[in-house]
Amino acid sequence: MTICAWCETLVCGKGGEARRPAGCPQNRGEWLDIALREYELEQNRKMARSAADVETTGYCRWTRLEEMAQFADRMNFERIGLAFCSGLRREARIVADFLTSRGFRVISAVCSCGGVHKGDIGIPPESRFRREGFEAMCNPIGQASLMNEYETDFNIVLGLCVGHDSLFFRYAEAPTSVLAAKDRVLAHNPLAAVYLSKSYYRRLFEDV
Ligand code: SF4
Repeated sequence: MTICAWCETLVCGKGGEARRPAGCPQNRGEWLDIALREYELEQNRKMARSAADVETTGYCRWTRLEEMAQFADRMNFERIGLAFCSGLRREARIVADFLTSRGFRVISAVCSCGGVHKGDIGIPPESRFRREGFEAMCNPIGQASLMNEYETDFNIVLGLCVGHDSLFFRYAEAPTSVLAAKDRVLAHNPLAAVYLSKSYYRRLFEDV
């Protein structure tokens, strides 16, 4: 187990030889050497530098959407995949318009693309909204496959469900970033539950 989430010192962020706490991941393992070797790859180095430059240049000024365009610019990306949930189709159109206005080519794919019936991949009736008849499944592997076929340079995920997003990340070949994480209850702001976990959402820590 490693204890970063409970660390009181964060000495890793201060440099120098400060004493690390017990449970600090830096006390053991090969992981850091492995990671540092990966940063020697030109593409990884360019991504890390571009991300850092976006972070500092637009710090607390650029919205995430603007940061995405700035990052894609610095990376010389041209083709951007937009994998979105049908529940956010209006937002997807605005995002696609924005990216197009910034000079990118947008390859967009809704979650239900392919029109595959949930039952066809063995999703049982109790896990569908309708017990009978056609119900399109979310098709994140299909979304990723489409992006791969169009050879997107960069993908943006907009509101894919928990788990569906995991499948998209697993199958997408281009680097991917998230514009919005779906939370149907909290207007796609999942951290609201965390911010209110001592009050209205204290049930998070109650027995379930
Ligand atoms: S890496 Fe070590 S020092 Fe840094 S937050 Fe984690 S436990 Fe704390």
